[in-house]
Amino acid sequence: MKLKQVKYLIYALGGACILMVALLGLTNSQVFLWLTLVLAVAAVAVSLVWWRCPYCGEHLGRDVGEYCSHCGRRLDQNDLV
Ligand SMILES: [Zn+2]
Repeated sequence: MKLKQVKYLIYALGGACILMVALLGLTNSQVFLWLTLVLAVAAVAVSLVWWRCPYCGEHLGRDVGEYCSHCGRRLDQNDLV
């Protein structure tokens, strides 16, 4: 999976998670509590598995610049933006 796709997937899961929290607040239904937990775990899992440098395989962390902070290689901008 490309970094761009991973980034959007994490954003989508995070956004869905926020939506579930809002629905939980409105309805007080336990269904949304479980959906929130599942989405949060999925977002973390996607990040841990795929949000990695394509060269050294290290986790990229929150702030991704032009270069990998672990191996220093330039990350493909087409893969990032
Ligand atoms: Zn690297």
